[in-house]
Amino acid sequence: RKNKTLLKIENLVVRYGAVEALKGINMEVNEGEIVAILGANGAGKTSTLRTISGLVESSGGSIVLGDQDITKTEAEKISAMGIGQSPEGRQVFRDFTVEENLKIGAFTIKDKAQIESNFNRVYGYFPVLKERKNQSASTLSGGEQQMLAIARALMGSPKILLLDEPSLGLAPLIVQDIMDIVKEIKQEGTTVIIVEQNAAQTLKIADYAYVLELGQVKMHGEASKLKNDPHLIEAYLGAH
Ligand code: ATP
Repeated sequence: RKNKTLLKIENLVVRYGAVEALKGINMEVNEGEIVAILGANGAGKTSTLRTISGLVESSGGSIVLGDQDITKTEAEKISAMGIGQSPEGRQVFRDFTVEENLKIGAFTIKDKAQIESNFNRVYGYFPVLKERKNQSASTLSGGEQQMLAIARALMGSPKILLLDEPSLGLAPLIVQDIMDIVKEIKQEGTTVIIVEQNAAQTLKIADYAYVLELGQVKMHGEASKLKNDPHLIEAYLGAH
């Protein structure tokens, strides 16, 4: 891994009451990479993402963005510092139009020209959103809502884009489209952390991957190597 570290997670512990969801995990995300977090249901993937974005409080360990410790920083500030999240289950604002959803995503940006350029960027990735900009989000298909959630996160000009299971519930062809666009987003300079149960398709676009099991990092390595790892294939790739 060549590039410099952008996000460093050390000994991160997350508890929900008596449940220890993360038992001291370590991760490094380098500038310009797509880093995948893989694992079964309940492994702790979503908890990891939500702790990075400040939506869940950690019980131990640290998260450092660049040279700033963000372990105790509140979610709104973390978002303004350049971490944008597209949540699991999409959670678009159904009663608002596509364009209004995107405007909400740009709430931390004051520069009008920047907002305009972000609109152009996301409409470039997802032309269907431009076609439907005046429709309410509730009229979009599942795949389109997923696109809107990703686009909304990009409207805040994030340095790091967090994607929580973008393929969930979508048809294989749409999953492929979304994976291709995630790769394009990276190529244009945004670092991406992607949580997925769909290990096979994610490893094709990722640079590096962490596999979580019961709140611990079970294995990690270059995506190109993990793709061929017999243990990983047996545990996670067989079903896909
Ligand atoms: P999924 O794909 O189902 O989202 P995941 O790998 O993202 O799984 P998490 O959602 O992070 O896993 O959950 C990790 C563990 O923490 C699970 O045992 C889960 O039941 C538990 N957990 C998650 N959120 C809460 C909560 N708010 N309260 C109590 N337990 C929780």
